[in-house]
Amino acid sequence: MNECIFCKIVARDLPAEILYETEQVIAFRDLNPVAPQHILIIPTKHIASTNGLEEEDAVVVGDMHLAAAEIAKREGFDKSGFRTVMNCGLDGGQTVFHMHLHLLGGRTMSWPPG
Ligand code: AMP
Repeated sequence: MNECIFCKIVARDLPAEILYETEQVIAFRDLNPVAPQHILIIPTKHIASTNGLEEEDAVVVGDMHLAAAEIAKREGFDKSGFRTVMNCGLDGGQTVFHMHLHLLGGRTMSWPPG
């Protein structure tokens, strides 16, 4: 999967501001933030999207959410609240086809999303 930009970040072939890392998950700041805090949490294994999930990936999906809670706490926006979003496919607004959880905080979010 050496064409995948997020795999390149995992391999340190592309720079990123990495905030959190385990063997299964890494998190880094979004290049084009849409909130004061905008962090992407990805599995280190290449999974294209929610549609590409297999039974064995259930643990890593849980790990991604545990990472979101831990990062929000470390960055000091757990109490004020935050939003996690995982876009899937074209209608979902997905542009990078390596599954990722957006962690957005530092401002009040509106609903419904665009
Ligand atoms: P999505 O539209 O849900 O697929 O989100 C992809 C996100 O990846 C966007 O918010 C982009 O700003 C972000 N992004 C793309 N390339 C990079 C990169 N090299 N480093 C950090 N974030 C990136």
